[in-house]
Amino acid sequence: MAGFFGRIRKQGDEAANGAEGPVAPAPIAASDLARRVELLDSLEETGVGWFWASDAEGRMIYCSPAAIAPFDISPTELAARTITQLFEEERKDEGKGEGTARPLKFLLAARGTLGPTPVRVKLGKGETWWEIAGKPRFAKDGSFAGYRGTARDITGTHEERRKAERASQYDSLTGLANRYRMSRQLEQTLKAYAHAKRSCALMMLDLDRFKQVNDTLGHPAGDELLKQVAGRIRRVLGDRVEIGRLGGDEFQAIIPDGDDRGELGDIAQQLIQMASQPYSINGSRAVIGVSIGIAVAPYDGIEPEELTKAADLALYAAKGGGRGQHRFYSRELRDQASFRHQIEQDLRDAIHGDQLRMHYQPIVDAKTHEVACMEALMRWEHPQRGMISPADFIPVAEEVGLIREMGTWALNDVCRTVSTWPGTVKAAVNVSAVQFAADDFVDVVRKALKSSGVDPGRIELEITESVFMGDVERSARVFAALKKLGVRLALDDFGTGYSSLSYLRDAPFDKIKIDQSFVRGCAGRDSNNLAIVAAVVSLAGALGMETVAEGVETKDELDAVTKQGASHIQGILFSRAMPGEEVLRRFEEGELHFTPRGPEKYRAERRTEFRRIGLIHGDHRYNVFLRNLSKTGAKIEGLLGIEVGTEVVLDLGGGQLAVAVVRRSEGSAQGLEFETPLISDGADGLCTRHRVSPYQIELAGKPLQALGDDPYAALMTMQNRAPKAFMEVQLN
Ligand code: C2E
Ligand code: CA
Ligand code: CA
Repeated sequence: MAGFFGRIRKQGDEAANGAEGPVAPAPIAASDLARRVELLDSLEETGVGWFWASDAEGRMIYCSPAAIAPFDISPTELAARTITQLFEEERKDEGKGEGTARPLKFLLAARGTLGPTPVRVKLGKGETWWEIAGKPRFAKDGSFAGYRGTARDITGTHEERRKAERASQYDSLTGLANRYRMSRQLEQTLKAYAHAKRSCALMMLDLDRFKQVNDTLGHPAGDELLKQVAGRIRRVLGDRVEIGRLGGDEFQAIIPDGDDRGELGDIAQQLIQMASQPYSINGSRAVIGVSIGIAVAPYDGIEPEELTKAADLALYAAKGGGRGQHRFYSRELRDQASFRHQIEQDLRDAIHGDQLRMHYQPIVDAKTHEVACMEALMRWEHPQRGMISPADFIPVAEEVGLIREMGTWALNDVCRTVSTWPGTVKAAVNVSAVQFAADDFVDVVRKALKSSGVDPGRIELEITESVFMGDVERSARVFAALKKLGVRLALDDFGTGYSSLSYLRDAPFDKIKIDQSFVRGCAGRDSNNLAIVAAVVSLAGALGMETVAEGVETKDELDAVTKQGASHIQGILFSRAMPGEEVLRRFEEGELHFTPRGPEKYRAERRTEFRRIGLIHGDHRYNVFLRNLSKTGAKIEGLLGIEVGTEVVLDLGGGQLAVAVVRRSEGSAQGLEFETPLISDGADGLCTRHRVSPYQIELAGKPLQALGDDPYAALMTMQNRAPKAFMEVQLN
């Protein structure tokens, strides 16, 4: 090693040897140009620091030889290039993100001081990164004379840093943005878009059945599947859309300017189609689906949390609606969710606050109409809301883990009650699949029998087909243990679930309950339901089981199911569920017989919509009833004096305005045709493509916020109204 440091070392060594005695290096005077140049030379050679210089035009007139040595470029060739031709800054998105300073080009043009800046050297093949810094120099007359600067190689550390930064923003498995980056992007986009009055859609995607694939094919296969899914999503959505994986099998996409729900629905359907094509994973085939929830800013939310929550709710509804669907956020979803949330909150109080009661509905013998069994049905008397249906609270109890406690309570309550009934009438208790799956289920039953002292043969457990979904061998063991306790088993809601006749053959059921959906209307001509009832009855007969026809409401249904040989009947034709005290009174008086009371025939109820909506005409908004809604038109009722050909606007709520023309008008009823067809909301419902924009409402002087209950009202001006053109009539 020659040069400055080498020389110093040598002097030191000599000093240590003591040959010439200590010689202090002479200080370098500022005027000693030769020694200063030598000093700089040696510094350059070490690579600790390099120098560069540019002329007034920005051309690189000097660069330390050691710096350019790795590149095949002569000083003359170098001088033909300007600073910005030689160096390139990091692209904004790759590394630092928002913190990037002013671009190099502008800084140099403004002749500002260049602080330490990482740049890519546009020479050679590989990636080389330097950190450069520099100061402008001015001649005596004040004219700009170019830059003088330093540089150093940072390739190694820079790569490391970029990798770490990428890892902190991107999902290493799929290469999509990670949760952190998505939430930052959403925040930035929403802020910028609210300012620019643009809209932006947020899509939440959740894979259906991913867990099964992961469990059966293994984690590496699951990872491979996620990668392929990510690729398909990217293909559908393209580059303009920021896509992320939030974790697990949850994906998210931010779609700029997406406010046409027709287009968004199409995109969602495309995603669903693409994602549900079979995947090939290491030779195995896997099929999954995807559910999608969509919310649009500023309509459904303005702040990131608000919008995310809306999209989450829509996703939850899409999942609940049977999977493989998309769903738009709507205020009804929010109301449903808050109702559910309320139930969840209050359910704990219900158990401990003595708000639950068991009511009993008779199941009668088909021939004698004498009660054979009472089905216990849970009732919740909510202190504020009144009666809440078990169809509403049982699923919530299952989800939040309260069903076991409730089920245990029910079982004990019923056993105790039955032991007070005179005679031999049995009672049936509904058992949730969640309860059945619990390890202590058989123990719970045993204890309830024991502490009440009831005859186990009087207790029937109603179990649905869903219990067959889990561990088959365990189910068989539980069934056997229950039979050993002496209780009876009934298969509930037969035909609605994963019915397999093989379950029936192998499981020790005493009774099959034919679901009311097969009983309903089974007396009609060419009824397929009747054939199903007949088949179940004969099968049960062959296996020595009783059959109950559930939900019998009319005399012709009773005739039909009796003729098919159902051994027992349950339904409001005989009686609704009644309180325990009433049951006890009847039994004590020996009233075991029930008389069928009800309509002769089943009438398919006409499902006409009867929703209150608005009709806007002139300066007025009228209240009308929506009788019927299709993609192309609507039937409304409630206004007199509307002529055919009148143009009106229907306010379908939530900012959904649909321009329509009156095509028919009879008295207070009109048929309207929409100017633009409605689109599917992903479920059974319809919605408009566009809505009143919160930006419009903001222009009318209201604060910017997501659509409220009556966004249109916010737009109506109250002054100088023309008289109403139509008369509103009251409908019963
Ligand atoms: P399920 O086990 O199928 O019970 C029969 C349901 O049909 C009851 O509704 C009953 O009131 C109704 N029903 C009876 N006859 C007729 C009729 O003629 N027409 C019509 N339309 N309906 C009729 P409910 O009481 O609302 O219970 C709903 C569901 O909640 C039950 O369906 C059962 O799955 C669940 N459930 C009720 N109580 C309990 C319980 O204590 N534990 C558990 N795990 N689930 C329960
Ligand atoms: Ca039942
Ligand atoms: Ca049932």
